[in-house]
This record gives sequence, structure tokens and C-alpha cells, in this order.
Amino acid sequence: MELLGHALDAMAAGALVLDDTGRILFANAAARTLLRPLAPEGRLLAEALPGADLSELAAAAATGEHIRITPDRGPAIEIQPRALAPGTYVVTLAQVRTDGGDPLTGLADRGRLRAELEANLARIRRGGQPLAVLCLDLDRFKEVNDTLGHPTGDALLRRVAERLRKTVRGEDLVARIGGDEFVIIQTNTRDPRAADALARRLVEAVCRPYVIDGQAITIGVSIGIAKAPCDGDEPDALVRHADLALYRAKAEGRGNYRFFEPEMDAQVKARRALEQQLAAALPCGQFHLAFQPQIGLESDRVAGFEALLRWTHPERGAIAPGEFIPVAEECGLMDQIGAWVLSAACEAAAGWPASAMVAVNVSAVQFRKGCILPAVTAALAASGLPPGRLELEITEAALLQNADAVVAALKELRALGVRISLDDFGTGYSSLSHLQRFAFDKIKIDRSFVQGLAGDSDRQAIMRALAGLGSSLGIEIVAEGVETAEQLAQLRALGCSGVQGYLIGRPLSCEAATALAAAQRVADAACGAGA
Ligand code: C2E
Ligand code: MG
Ligand code: MG
Repeated sequence: MELLGHALDAMAAGALVLDDTGRILFANAAARTLLRPLAPEGRLLAEALPGADLSELAAAAATGEHIRITPDRGPAIEIQPRALAPGTYVVTLAQVRTDGGDPLTGLADRGRLRAELEANLARIRRGGQPLAVLCLDLDRFKEVNDTLGHPTGDALLRRVAERLRKTVRGEDLVARIGGDEFVIIQTNTRDPRAADALARRLVEAVCRPYVIDGQAITIGVSIGIAKAPCDGDEPDALVRHADLALYRAKAEGRGNYRFFEPEMDAQVKARRALEQQLAAALPCGQFHLAFQPQIGLESDRVAGFEALLRWTHPERGAIAPGEFIPVAEECGLMDQIGAWVLSAACEAAAGWPASAMVAVNVSAVQFRKGCILPAVTAALAASGLPPGRLELEITEAALLQNADAVVAALKELRALGVRISLDDFGTGYSSLSHLQRFAFDKIKIDRSFVQGLAGDSDRQAIMRALAGLGSSLGIEIVAEGVETAEQLAQLRALGCSGVQGYLIGRPLSCEAATALAAAQRVADAACGAGA
């Protein structure tokens, strides 16, 4: 036996002898190295090699199959069991070769993906079956990595890789090409619905919960799909097109899949161009502010103006803030632009009569890096505007995105003496808990709510209740988007404290706003201000 042991130790492959309970009776030197740091002899196989399953092993011993095991730590191992005698198995183990392979998951790497894609595309050119390329990106993987640590992140990637491999057919290729990015080549997709069915199975497989180190983790996946030959017959173009579809799947809310469409190419180019032009807009002086009057219904006087950002694009002319502000937010330009808006608005307001306030819209991203407080302080200091004349408008959606941080920042801003107003109320959740969470000075009722007011007794009752709530809590209630005299009369009757809208006045140039503020009597101005 000792001689046999020495002989087995000299083998390059790992070898284990197991009894029928799965206990390891013997391990050669190569097996001990592979299963480090545990000493395998005397342990159960499942303990020495987590993921190995005795019944699977017995089945494979009968058919002569190989089993691949991907442990949470360490390289993937391929095992081949054979029945030695009834109730005894000999199992050979080998580390899965990683050339052309990704060392972490054992999947193909970028180089192998390319080679396979080229070979398959050549086959298509010779009349072979079509194929589909699926680009996958895990949703919120970064959060797992950041909160649970890299070892857990790595373990999750291995488990995802394993599920992907089990979901595709044997002839399909699964590659990992970046942190949490995978690419699958689905070959022989004669049935046009094959890619669709695979994508659905992949989303389903990846989304099932994982348990890693006793911790339950769930993660999603987004998928973009391009088909060959119809979407491209060249590896780079195909992967790029699948990637564009992936970008769309992510933008449309993650956890889903999209097929490439030729317009996506043009849309992404247009979006990139818009981002570049937007980055140049501030240094090139293409922004200005328009000021829309707001009147108080008790005095019928101009209470102040809301500053609204305008961009004059060099080729396209005026672009509405609804189009460019979300882009500025996503590409990291909103802090700078927002700081400019604050300083330009405060400077304008400093030239108005002391009774007129200025309202500035602030976006949620301005709260993220703690930039809002210094920007407000700087704008007030440079203009000399008393803080009480500056009002910041924040939407309910912004409040929801990072409620604790936003509420903390709002409290600091309030401590400076700045007023805070809740914008677009009536469009989102319109939750009373938001009103309780932070004591707003003003609530602005959204235009869409105001426009449905006439003839809707439920809305009228809500409006009256809000007005009552506002007056008892000391919160001003201002209606936006007032366009008709009927709406104005109704809002007045329901107890609203202020109004804003085209009936009162369109957004004005700074000079026109200054003149209107000086004129003061707005009832007259309102009569002629239908334009
Ligand atoms: P908002 O803050 O609710 O601003 C009111 C919008 O309604 C403005 O559109 C205004 O021109 C429009 N409006 C006012 N009265 C009427 C009316 O009677 N009828 C109709 N149909 N519309 C009316 P605008 O200027 O296109 O701004 C759209 C949105 O863009 C704003 O909605 C605000 O959320 C955002 N925005 C504008 N400027 C800035 C800014 O400097 N920073 C940030 N973060 N957002 C801004
Ligand atoms: Mg606003
Ligand atoms: Mg609004």
C-alpha cells in the first residue's frame, strides 16, 4: 500500500479514493495541493470541495462524465469519478485550464471570445446558421462589491458564471470581458425566437437569490442582443451593437433585455454630441435665465419670480430645460450649471425691490457631493442678496432619492435663512410624510393638477384641504400653470395663497422682470398679460 501511495503521489493529476458515504479515504499529493488549505483525508468530499455532490458523482461515475466545480474561492476544478469497487470511488481532479480563460470564473476571456466569434462568422459566410451575441451587465454589482467586499463580489461573479454556463447549450460560448460584463455567443439560432427565449432564461437564472458566506444576495442583469448576419457580420460591430442595445435595456429600467435596432446608433451619437455641446455651453455663455412672476393672492402683488434656465444652442436654437437638465445631471455637469444659476439668479434679484424674492430650482444631484451649501453661500455673498429673499425649489422626486442627506442639507440651508419650497406637488407620490419630514415654507401645486381642477370636485376638495393645512401650518400654497381667469377665481375661492402661470405672466427677461417688480401693481399687469 505504501508503494502504491508513493506511485499515486508521483501522478500529476489529483486522485482521491472515497467510500460510499463520500468520506475521503486517501488523497494523493496533487489532490492535497488542489484542496489546500484543508487536509482532505478523513473529511467528507463536500467539505473538502464545496459544491461537489455525492449523488451527482455516482451518476457521473456510471456514465463516465466529467463534472466541473466552481468553488467560491480558488480556481474551477474538473473531476472525473469512477467506481473502483462497489461502494468505493476513485476520483481524478484537475484544475480547469485558464488559457483563453478568465482566471476568476473559468469562462472564456476576451481573446477567446473574439476568436470564436470570428470562426463562427466565417462559418456563416460559408452558409452556416445565424448566431446571436448577448452582452450582459449585472445590475448594481458595484453596490455588492462596495458594501460586502471584494471577496464576496468575486464569489458572486463565480456563481453568476456558473448559472450562465448552466443556462446556455453546450455549443454556446460564455465569456467574461470585464468586471461584471459577460458576453454569450448563441450559435445556430435558426429559430428567430431562440435569442429571446435564452435572454428570458438568463434574466430569470441570474435574478434568483444567492447565499454567499451565509449572506443572501440578489442581483439583476440587463441584456443587449445583436444578431448575425442581420445586425453585422464583423466581431467588433456585432459586440458594439449588442452593447448599444444593452445601454438601452439599462436606461429602460434594468432587469430586462433589448434587441439592437439601427436607430440606436444614431440616438447614441446624438446623445454624445449633446453632452459635448452642453459641456461647452457654460464657458461659451449660452445660458441665460428667464424669470416668471409669482403673485400673492392676498395682496395681488408680485411676490417674486422663479428663475428658469434657458439654453440657446448654437445650431438648434432654444432647447427646453426638460431636455437638457436630465442630460446635465447624468453626465456630471449639473453641479457647475446649478452653481451658475444660483449666482445669476441672486445677482438679478439684488437689483429688484426688496419685497421681491427669487426662486431657484435645484436638482437632486446638487445635494450628492455636498456642493449645494457652498454654492448658495457664494451666490449670496457675491450678490449681497439677503438670504430671506432666496427660495430653493426642490422636487419630491429629489427628496426621495437620498432623503436623509437631502433633509440634512435643507436644514443647514434653512439655518442660513433661505426659504425652501416643494415643487411639482401632485405629480409624484405627494406624500404627507414628506411634508412632515421637512417643514417646507411653500408647496407648489403642479400645473397638471391645476389644469384638471375645473369640474373635478375631488380635486377641488383636495385643494381646499391643502390650503387649510397650509394656513394652519404656516406653509404657503402656490398653484402653478394658471392659464385661465376661471382657474384663478377658483384657486382664490379655495384659499390658495399664491399663483404662477401664463395668465399672470410668461417667463420674462431680467430687464422686464425688474420693471414689473418695480411697477408692483400686478392686478393691472395680469389683465393684459395673456401672452
Ligand atoms: P418647474 O420648476 O415646475 O417650472 C415651471 C415650468 O412650467 C416652466 O417650464 C414654466 O415655463 C412652465 N409654465 C409656467 N407657467 C405655465 C403655464 O401657465 N402653462 C404652461 N403650459 N406652462 C407653464 P420650463 O421653463 O420649461 O422648465 C421646466 C422645468 O425644468 C422646471 O419645472 C424645472 O423643473 C426645470 N428647470 C428649469 N430651470 C431649472 C434650473 O435652473 N435648475 C433645475 N435643476 N431645474 C430647472
Ligand atoms: Mg420650479
Ligand atoms: Mg413646478
